Amino acid sequence: MPDTQLRPEPLLEVSEVVKSYGKREALRGVSLAVAPGEFVALLGPNGAGKSTLFQLLTGLFNADAGRLRVCGHDMRASPVKALGRIGVVFQQMTLDLDLSVEANLRFHARLHGIAGHDGTARIADALARLGLTERARDKVRDLSGGNRRKVELARALIHKPSVLLMDEATVGLDPASRRQLLDEVLALREKGVATLWASHLVDEAEEADRVIVLHMGRILAVGTPQELVRASGRESLAEAFLSMTGRKEAQPA
Ligand code: ADP
Repeated sequence: MPDTQLRPEPLLEVSEVVKSYGKREALRGVSLAVAPGEFVALLGPNGAGKSTLFQLLTGLFNADAGRLRVCGHDMRASPVKALGRIGVVFQQMTLDLDLSVEANLRFHARLHGIAGHDGTARIADALARLGLTERARDKVRDLSGGNRRKVELARALIHKPSVLLMDEATVGLDPASRRQLLDEVLALREKGVATLWASHLVDEAEEADRVIVLHMGRILAVGTPQELVRASGRESLAEAFLSMTGRKEAQPA
């Protein structure tokens, strides 16, 4: 009998990835996958290895062992194809503060070969969706932290990536801005985007389709928030996370 319940092919696949800095093992055999339209929270305390994984996924370093694939493209064999399907918001802001919002987006669009009317239309759409149309000509320097992050999200999406990587993207934001950014990204599920959202804040994982708990370079648990709570025998995801990692989650900055 053919299996009619086949899951869609994952857009992001990480298999047995190992990465060390000298003697320090940052990732000790990490495997995970994110399917189309899935929001996966990568939850781990500081030092868990989240940023290291993101650096490998964005081609900044090579893994010592294991494989990373984006839309079926191997990061090592076909880095340009793999990277072309990724949108990323790093923990540190990477916008040019002295360029306008629009110029920042246009620069990124051109890097992806998107120019002319198509570029203009995509930038206008992205700004409208995030409520930033009125700010298009303002310098990024004049924007609030929350709006800067929205511009980074708009930029990450301008080339319509299949995979979105968010690395501690809410650091430094006030609670309302954190919520807004999270909502914007959760809404991308409907568009089929596969999102990997790295955070040390448990509340940001509550609405995830799946949570992956990373600690000291190893995956400790994978499941829906409800499954993780049930398996831990605790009352909440925060308590489950604490019981697994032995650490209290940090408070939002
Ligand atoms: P996270 O993003 O979850 O906080 P990191 O990936 O930054 O975790 O760090 C994982 C481990 O690797 C930590 O022990 C950290 O100290 C170490 N590490 C990260 N970057 C470097 C580096 N450039 N050189 C040496 N050690 C590093």
